[in-house]
Amino acid sequence: MQADDRASSPQPAPSGGTPNAVPESVTIAQFQQLIRDMYLEKDLARGVDGTFMWLMEEVGELAGSLRNGTHQDRLGEFADVLAWLATIANVAGVDLTEAVNKKYGSGCPGCGQFSCTCADSEKP
Ligand SMILES: [Zn+2]
Repeated sequence: MQADDRASSPQPAPSGGTPNAVPESVTIAQFQQLIRDMYLEKDLARGVDGTFMWLMEEVGELAGSLRNGTHQDRLGEFADVLAWLATIANVAGVDLTEAVNKKYGSGCPGCGQFSCTCADSEKP
């Protein structure tokens, strides 16, 4: 398929106790760093515009998997969307942990509660 489709380049199956690069529980910071370590040079060369197109393509594939895919399909598409979001953040110099903390670290951005009390007519 696409030369740069990360889903089409599966990690080799761990054998003989080879550790998986991603721990079973991974923080946003660890994941963003993993993506940075694997792809930053290529991502910087592609730039924000090209990377954004890949993200949108993956969002479309996620929509397709939610409509017609299997659970396994959805696992892959969610991972791809997250990976391309982390990629754009790396290219744009945005720390996703900082972004999430600033926006959601004190609760809902609309009402400030950790269990949202915004009116149904509002977005949150
Ligand atoms: Zn709210």
